[in-house]
Amino acid sequence: QAKSLGRSRSVVFEMAMAENQLDYYLLERDLNEAVDRNQLSLVFQPKVDLITRKVVGLEALVRWNHPTRGQNTPGAFIPIAENSDQIIHIDRWVIRNTIAEQARRHASGLTMLPIAINLSIADILSPNLVTYFTELLKEYKVPAAALEIEVTESCFMRQLSQTQGVLRALNEKGISTTLDDFGTGFSSLSYLRQLPLQCLKIDQSFTASMLEDANAEKLTQAIVAMGNALKMTIVAEGVETREQMHWLLAHGCHIGQGYYFSPPVPSEDVMQVIERIEIRLAA
Ligand code: C2E
Ligand code: MG
Ligand code: MG
Ligand code: MG
Repeated sequence: QAKSLGRSRSVVFEMAMAENQLDYYLLERDLNEAVDRNQLSLVFQPKVDLITRKVVGLEALVRWNHPTRGQNTPGAFIPIAENSDQIIHIDRWVIRNTIAEQARRHASGLTMLPIAINLSIADILSPNLVTYFTELLKEYKVPAAALEIEVTESCFMRQLSQTQGVLRALNEKGISTTLDDFGTGFSSLSYLRQLPLQCLKIDQSFTASMLEDANAEKLTQAIVAMGNALKMTIVAEGVETREQMHWLLAHGCHIGQGYYFSPPVPSEDVMQVIERIEIRLAA
């Protein structure tokens, strides 16, 4: 009895594995064609200055509209793309389309809001990344200050000195750099010392727990204090409640991003969303 139970369990397990592998393989295959088949799109989430109550920037987040699976969020395909270096192809598409978006915003007379792009380690290490940025900025007549990049700590585990060089080169061109998901990686403190970064983004797990758990609250306070001492801009991600917003304001974190203000939205909704946020916060 016990033996057959053990066996059927392992068969089930193997089938689940095979299914996962097949699924992975199918997704990876489809992902190869996503850019060429025009299946990617961008959504934008506002960053809000909690003191002036104005939207001060946007973050571009990629979506994959799969022909049969529907819209995929990055969690489902960015890791696959990162394993196959397909990520470089995808993120170059993201960079080009974010710059094109800024050119359109500019052409319709909108005030410039910097848009942040998320980059993976493979992008940072890929040849001609900085040239790719500068040539597109020139082509679309968009100022470098219209762009920011966000990188995560896991990004630096390898190739610290090369990462340093690329971030510095981007800074020199006028593109500022943010450390994303701060607090979730490994030796983050040494990266703060060694890398040219202007902004620290507190991971949403801190935002979510700081009002629930005294230790999380103390840690978040310490991160904010450290970022301020280093004269970095501090952004809290994953702000979902009014209470969280007030906590951040009271503790020296002056920029927030999250569902409390708005989820990421397609380009055509950005203006309306900004207006709505600013009216609501002014009231
Ligand atoms: P991230 O850069 O830390 O982005 C924040 C994620 O949190 C986004 O998920 C966003 O939709 C979500 N979010 C925003 N506000 C809230 C909130 O109030 N509560 C909660 N629970 N979540 C919130 P998304 O769009 O699924 O992206 C996930 C991750 O995928 C991003 O994390 C980023 O690391 C990566 N990613 C997204 N777009 C790109 C891209 O174009 N290139 C690369 N390389 N990575 C990307
Ligand atoms: Mg980000
Ligand atoms: Mg983040
Ligand atoms: Mg995150």
